[in-house]
Amino acid sequence: MGKILIRGAKVLGGEPQDVLIDGETIAEVGNGLSAEGAEVIEADGKILLPGLVDLHTHLREPGREDSETVLTGTKAAAVGGFTAVHAMANTFPVADTAGVVEQVWRLGKESGYCDVQPIGAVTVGLEGKKLAELGAMHDSAANVRVFSDDGKCVDDAVIMRRALEYVKAFDGVVAQHAQEPRLTEGAQMNEGVVSAELGLGGWPAVAEESIIARDVLLAEHVGSRVHICHLSTAGSVEIVRWAKSRGIDVTAEVTPHHLLLTDELVRTYNPVYKVNPPLRTERDVMALREALADGTIDIVATDHAPHPHEDKDCEWGAAAMGMVGLETALSVIQHTMVDTGLLDWAQVADRMSVRPAAIGRLAGHGRPVSAGEPANLTLVDSAYRGAVDPAGFASRSRNTPYEGRELPGRVTHTFLRGRATVVDGKLA
Ligand SMILES: [Zn+2]
Repeated sequence: MGKILIRGAKVLGGEPQDVLIDGETIAEVGNGLSAEGAEVIEADGKILLPGLVDLHTHLREPGREDSETVLTGTKAAAVGGFTAVHAMANTFPVADTAGVVEQVWRLGKESGYCDVQPIGAVTVGLEGKKLAELGAMHDSAANVRVFSDDGKCVDDAVIMRRALEYVKAFDGVVAQHAQEPRLTEGAQMNEGVVSAELGLGGWPAVAEESIIARDVLLAEHVGSRVHICHLSTAGSVEIVRWAKSRGIDVTAEVTPHHLLLTDELVRTYNPVYKVNPPLRTERDVMALREALADGTIDIVATDHAPHPHEDKDCEWGAAAMGMVGLETALSVIQHTMVDTGLLDWAQVADRMSVRPAAIGRLAGHGRPVSAGEPANLTLVDSAYRGAVDPAGFASRSRNTPYEGRELPGRVTHTFLRGRATVVDGKLA
């Protein structure tokens, strides 16, 4: 692998500089660097960020390769500017043993597009009854540090307590899908004015908030760290803010779609808008944006949830929940957070790379863009404007809520340890 000179890039949105990559690392950052022996990429004031890190990705392999595979999912990640993703455990079989997490980890290595860090299930079969082999998954080649039953809530308080106690031994974290199951039986969308009008089963905010409140108190009680998946309500923000002010070791994520879309869209009955947790109200969206800006919500995570056509192109009630998100995440964040003045690019790097890598204890990612660091980088053309065209997705699935919608920004290049995985917006 040779040298690559990225010329005139705004590092974290600052003044244009040159960045020289030599092999797998950043050799130099400065002005007027020599291009001798290097392939030159004219960045022309594009934004250079550390490679993005997703803490919440569904890669579907093993078991649902018709939706996505580790290979297609990591290609989609690279196109979106990601250099590392955490693969959720709700596969078939469930990633609840050392064997399954090692399989996913190995498939990630083979893909070459993006580092894949498996997430282990908290409970056997995601059934919430018995703790999975957390220690064995941590001790495996996959070195699992994040555990989640995502898609299902660890609703038994004793099981949740034990999981928090267990992962403490190796500095792991439990990522909770906060959904009180009894309060969400038959839920189809956010419980509120729109659900009442449409006559669809409501998913009340309190179903999320009550679990978050319980879990931050449990984390405090056992002195462990807990992470809240896809926060979606204004009330959840208040609880996390309170917990942090109290010194509880809690982190939280928000998805791009919860920063942009509202439950008004359900009036279309288009199942592309069916997601868990559901799209909420305008007031919730604004509270989530503010919380991401002020750091109450630590990170953006995609909850990339690919589904084949037949699972989404049906009546609302029968449709699967979830949206793809890897390839549009950064554009939605530019639209909702940067173009609105809520975050600058350095803060985007913090919320989409530095902090997710820190929560996952992922070495080598979320690092500064400076000499001696691994060359995991993403170059963004923030001036770009264009309509989202799912036909061009690298993901195997097309269930995006943004089809035809104009969104700003485009990842033009992604580098994984010095190797270009995306060049001029296309897979290398
Ligand atoms: Zn998920």
